[in-house]
Amino acid sequence: WPSPAALSWVHRYAALGSEFHTRWTAQPLPDPYWVCTSGAAAEMLGWPDDWAQRDDWQALQCLSGGAQWPGLDPVATVYSGHQFGVWAGQLGDGRALLLGEMQLADGSGVEVQLKGSGRTPYARMGDGRAVLRSSIREFLCSEAMHGLGIPTTRALCVIGSALPVRREQIETAAVTTRLAPSFVRFGHFEHFAHHEKPQQLQQLTDHVIACHYPECREAAQPAAALLDAVTRRTAELMAQWQAVGFCHGVMNTDNMSILGLTIDYGPFGFLDAFDPGHVCNHSDHQGRYAYNRQPNIALWNLHALGQALLPLIPDADAAQQALEPYKTVFPAALERRMRDKIGLLQTLPGDRELVDDLLRLMAQDRCDFTITFRRLAGFVSTPGAPNDSVRDLFVDRAGFDAWGTRYAERLRQESSVDAERGARMNRVNPKFVLRNHLAEVAIRRSRAGDHSELQRLLAVLERPYDEQPEHEADAGFPPEWAQTIEVSCSS
Ligand code: AMP
Ligand code: MG
Ligand code: MG
Repeated sequence: WPSPAALSWVHRYAALGSEFHTRWTAQPLPDPYWVCTSGAAAEMLGWPDDWAQRDDWQALQCLSGGAQWPGLDPVATVYSGHQFGVWAGQLGDGRALLLGEMQLADGSGVEVQLKGSGRTPYARMGDGRAVLRSSIREFLCSEAMHGLGIPTTRALCVIGSALPVRREQIETAAVTTRLAPSFVRFGHFEHFAHHEKPQQLQQLTDHVIACHYPECREAAQPAAALLDAVTRRTAELMAQWQAVGFCHGVMNTDNMSILGLTIDYGPFGFLDAFDPGHVCNHSDHQGRYAYNRQPNIALWNLHALGQALLPLIPDADAAQQALEPYKTVFPAALERRMRDKIGLLQTLPGDRELVDDLLRLMAQDRCDFTITFRRLAGFVSTPGAPNDSVRDLFVDRAGFDAWGTRYAERLRQESSVDAERGARMNRVNPKFVLRNHLAEVAIRRSRAGDHSELQRLLAVLERPYDEQPEHEADAGFPPEWAQTIEVSCSS
């Protein structure tokens, strides 16, 4: 915990002006207590990983809204957006506060946000709070995604309180400290476009370009260049989500990061038994945000961003052009990742069919997505090798054998060495993902006052590609009771 005087803050978002936010202060969390901290996130700030212990009281107060660092200028930002495909009007940081942008030793900045710190002018009907359950899920998954190498907002800590919060049941409150280079969402742009405020739209665009996309500044049409860059980053992000079996659950335009980060962890889930149409969010009755729809939804959201930027793009054709890369970048990125997942180094005709046929078999037999790819790393390409470990996951053994024969032939075409390929595959196919039941066990323990399971699980998820044999139980199939866990928009 660095001395507050040693921290240096800038407030570039706050400086945009009152159209963009409301200056606001947090509502203190009564009797705050530590739930969990991320040493890796602290390290990113240049803090020692035992920072939370160093000045317990002050850190607790500052990160739960009870006290303020000197030099802060906290704001709740305003945005709008499309929710479930429908224009939702004004939303905004209803329960979050942007404290400011902390300057790091390397010259970069990171925005620090409290989530669950009380009602803001954008809270609408909400109570401004977040429950311990959803805060722990967001904390764990942010850090798990980072461990997987997937762009994401980060979570520094969760602080709890006995303050009761009403959801389906009475739960207790928590505040999460989130970190990101920027929390700007597609919805921020939609907000100013909808209200026909081209000047603010221009200001926001200039801000994002200056801070995060400097390469767009010199383009003939900077807004179109920005859209093009965001399109590419979003396409790459979708390929990463799909390849690891991550389902976001609420891909509304207000939950889409302008930096292509995974943001706003709510009813997310990782695929277990492979079902391409899996819907992780129990509130998503139409299945709009099903696993296999995510890439198209991202493009739909990019169209909404493009629409919002139109007033700044004199040549409407250029806006359309800026979205075009999605159609090539996404499939290429996914294909590359899927090829990596089965350990192929070269690209040969028929590779896509080989991957698709494996996925088809996995879907037909509801094979566990993570476990199947992880076990495939042990595949022996010698003709007649039994490969029972992965084969046993399939009901249709003949189907797997036929696929295995083709796979082995394909491996021989590039003289693939089993051990080398296996090691390579283990670096892209995680052994550990944040399955709902793992989070649930940690949540139940934390509710009972024992946060050690949470900290243990965090450490496992920080190294998802390592064997960690002592944590084998976290890499197993979900238990029967996991099916009774329902995650929804309630948070
Ligand atoms: P979400 O579905 O979590 O992305 O939230 C959509 C909008 O609702 C955002 O503007 C949030 O800030 C707001 N919101 C969600 N929960 C609450 C709450 N408990 N209190 C105030 N605002 C909330
Ligand atoms: Mg949101
Ligand atoms: Mg949310």
